[in-house]
Amino acid sequence: MSYDFVIVGAGHHGLACAAYLARAGESVLVLERSSRVGGGCSTEEATLPGFRHNICSVVHTHVPTSPVYRDLELERHGVRYVYPEHLRGTIFPDQRSLVMYRDANRMADEIARFSARDARTFRQLVADYGEFIDSTYLSLMYSPPLAPSLQSAQLEQSAEGRTLLQWQASTPVQLLDELFESEEVKVHFLARMTVLGFPPDQFGQGWICLFRILKAEAPICVGGSGSLALGLRRAVEAHGGVVQTDAAVHRIVVHGNRAIGVELKDGRRIDASKAVVTNVEPKKSFLGMVGEEHLPSPFVARVKNYHSNGRSLFVLHLALSAPPHYRAAAGNAPVDLAFSQEMFGGRVEDQVRAYRDIATGVPPRMEMLQVTLPTLFDPSQAPAGRHTAVVWQYAPYRIEPDGPEGWRRLRDEYAEHVLGLWSSYAPNITKDVILGMRIQDPTDTERHNDNLVNGVDVVGDMTPDQMGWFRPFAGWSDYRTPVEGLYMCGGYCHPGGGVHAGAGHNAAGVIADDYQLNRWWD
Ligand SMILES: Cc1cc2nc3c(=O)[nH]c(=O)nc-3n(C[C@H](O)[C@H](O)[C@H](O)COP(=O)(O)OP(=O)(O)OC[C@H]3O[C@@H](n4cnc5c(N)ncnc54)[C@H](O)[C@@H]3O)c2cc1C
Repeated sequence: MSYDFVIVGAGHHGLACAAYLARAGESVLVLERSSRVGGGCSTEEATLPGFRHNICSVVHTHVPTSPVYRDLELERHGVRYVYPEHLRGTIFPDQRSLVMYRDANRMADEIARFSARDARTFRQLVADYGEFIDSTYLSLMYSPPLAPSLQSAQLEQSAEGRTLLQWQASTPVQLLDELFESEEVKVHFLARMTVLGFPPDQFGQGWICLFRILKAEAPICVGGSGSLALGLRRAVEAHGGVVQTDAAVHRIVVHGNRAIGVELKDGRRIDASKAVVTNVEPKKSFLGMVGEEHLPSPFVARVKNYHSNGRSLFVLHLALSAPPHYRAAAGNAPVDLAFSQEMFGGRVEDQVRAYRDIATGVPPRMEMLQVTLPTLFDPSQAPAGRHTAVVWQYAPYRIEPDGPEGWRRLRDEYAEHVLGLWSSYAPNITKDVILGMRIQDPTDTERHNDNLVNGVDVVGDMTPDQMGWFRPFAGWSDYRTPVEGLYMCGGYCHPGGGVHAGAGHNAAGVIADDYQLNRWWD
């Protein structure tokens, strides 16, 4: 059997790449190991019948405004988004709260409840950088990364750019200390970074923090995040592409220095007359499926050095008879209606300490909690009048001294502890309201999808050494590999983990250039 292109893995990146290639008139086969498509975009009845839970991703910040949504006509393929009006609500231990709004004036008014000076600073940031961020972030995400020297050369031209370069070199905490005076405002904005897994005291990430301060959105996929995967699958099939599930790739077949096809676990061999594209993370792709013997040793060294050691998430999926009612809503009613509630302590230092605990294998005892109820905005995800909640508490993958196995011992007790932390903010969350619960510790996440190594949601740490032009490796951030006819597409490539289909889109563009395909989307 032979196709022009064989894609390994039907994560949303693999499907997006396949859909672009199929619509370019190429014959395309996507092979997915599990029995469903989507990888980190999956929705299952994890607790009780009719309660649809998002096992990994819940919010798809960039998808609806991305070129992928438009080019692949995902709306026509059944992918729709709803936009909560009130975004993140940060609740502090004293039950005050700060809600995030996409409208800059409303956001500034909310900040002014804590500090008039910080509200002025926020307005000034919007005036100075809002347009710049709006006009650059989509093009930065949906094209291969710029070399650091080119990026710096552009920024060096203006005063704002030079400031950005300095902020980029600093830590999120340093940036927030420079900009704001209110501890609550800093906690709120820092949370926008740490929810993505960016450590608060990591140098080299200040600029992303500015982006997170200024961009506010929380689109939720109607029917659950699995609906995005199904829509992408339809987009592949609408143009003659084939998607096979329960089809695990065992080996990428290399002849000379060229990838010529794949061998499946069940022994089948499928040829790729043009190229193989892998959606699977680097160690499994290159050390597992390609084999060191086909790769230059410096490249093998880089693959071995690719790391996924950052924080993971301890997740509770809950079926509820009623939504939570937060004590904080007495002083700020919209907090109950926010897309998510974040309880990260009252001081910046709390998040810093939580990350340090996690780095040493200690699950934080204090609340590092983000709670989302998709059903407040999309009732189709639960039976009428009922709700699903997803509770994320930051946690390590390895617990000292037992390592990952430590979760077998700890998980039930930790789940009770996390529920206790949550109900101290939302007292109506009692055993009566909880109709069903599934615990998902970091090792469960990895068992669900071992592409998320160590349960790290972003497919490899998003640290400065593994971002942009360095993701996954310096010199190989353009989706090509040292093996001819073998390409990368996945969260381990630029623009990184999360659901946005950027890597799938960008890989398709590079492949189209290399094979002189019809770039119908330009
Ligand atoms: C708890 C949690 C919450 C999250 N929340 C969010 C969120 O709200 N918003 C957000 O944007 N992101 C979120 N993420 C992150 C997001 O889900 C991932 O970063 C994203 O889904 C990765 O997409 P991908 O296409 O790169 O890889 P994946 O989705 O992992 O897809 C890779 C696919 O390859 C398949 N595969 C692996 N090996 C083989 C093989 N040998 N043969 C064939 N197929 C194979 C896998 O089965 C999988 O389907 C969350 C993640 C977790 C764990």
